Amino acid sequence: MKSKKYVFLAVLFLFLSAYALAQTSNQSTIEELETQVAELDKTFNVAARKYVSAYFDLSDQYYKIKDYEKAYANAVKGLRLDSYNMPMQYRAAEYEIKIKDYDLAYSRLNYIIEKNEDKKTVKAARKLLKKIPQEKIAELENMVIQPMYEKSILLVFYPGVEDVYKSSIAQRIEQEYKLTVKTADFMEAEDTGNCRSTWDEYLVGAVQGVMVNGSEAVIKQVLKAWGLTESDLETPSGREAFLMNVFYMSGYSEEDWLAFKSNYEDQYDANALIKQVKKTYKIDSDCFGILAVTAKDIYSGSENNNFLFGLASNNIAVMSLNRFVKYTDDKSIAMKRSVMQAFASTGHVLGIPRCSTPQCARAYPDSLAEQDAKDDVLCQTCIKNVNELYASLKE
Ligand SMILES: [Zn+2]
Repeated sequence: MKSKKYVFLAVLFLFLSAYALAQTSNQSTIEELETQVAELDKTFNVAARKYVSAYFDLSDQYYKIKDYEKAYANAVKGLRLDSYNMPMQYRAAEYEIKIKDYDLAYSRLNYIIEKNEDKKTVKAARKLLKKIPQEKIAELENMVIQPMYEKSILLVFYPGVEDVYKSSIAQRIEQEYKLTVKTADFMEAEDTGNCRSTWDEYLVGAVQGVMVNGSEAVIKQVLKAWGLTESDLETPSGREAFLMNVFYMSGYSEEDWLAFKSNYEDQYDANALIKQVKKTYKIDSDCFGILAVTAKDIYSGSENNNFLFGLASNNIAVMSLNRFVKYTDDKSIAMKRSVMQAFASTGHVLGIPRCSTPQCARAYPDSLAEQDAKDDVLCQTCIKNVNELYASLKE
């Protein structure tokens, strides 16, 4: 029932935050803004994107009271949703210089200058660049990715991927890898070859849970009332009927039940998806390859594999947002996880070596907690590898 509860909470929070934010004035206090962003963290979706300024407003407020760390943290959160906001990119770089995080500031300021979209900000960025100590600059020049915007990667989104993920993933790959990101909405649903269901797996556990927690007499009684027998619970359809009745008995509607059930969608064979994308899209000579993004759960096609975050075959990769989104109600965390996986997958498409530097966004985490503790940036080894690749293409 937990996921279902989240659906309700998410809807409720959405209304609340939309209402609260409509009331926002420039004089909002830090407490009010903190409440709003806490709600945004949970509701963060297409609608929430409109209100991304709450993060930036909060960042401003912290800046005024010289709490640069919190000012910076909120700026970065906002930028995860709105990376093309160049004035905010500039402010994030300002904070990075204040906290002497020169490599991040250097990379960010160069991104603003390279994008060259907002002339005033570009001018300010050039000026701010001079605040980085000269001896650091020489060192940093070798520590950032040298742009390769003449080459591209094609991002293909399966139906069902939310717009906010599409734009943020595209923007962050462009910013981090310094290449052109092209996007396409895939018209076909995921190939069902080798598709398997996780629904019954869940049902088995859920029915067991009810059995363990309920008294035998009560269970016998309800089974009878629902026209079920204990042997029905040995079959998938019997288990489903049982759990559906538990649901209705708890006061939920049929619509709730169907929404809940959709959380246990089928699991798709990542290899089938790679083949499907390969069949549909041609890779131009200026394109490194394709990264397909699905909202569905994926696995390797082999029975003993539980699930995958992503899979690559030569220059075509597929990644799934499913588990990044499903197991947290903090959507800002879901986005960060998704972006890190996108960096890992992009690395495969480009053909740079796998990375095992623990702090790197591309390194495979042992747990989601380990993943969440990292920053969504590439390590020096990966940067060096990308630079070598780009340099070899320019020769
Ligand atoms: Zn790395």
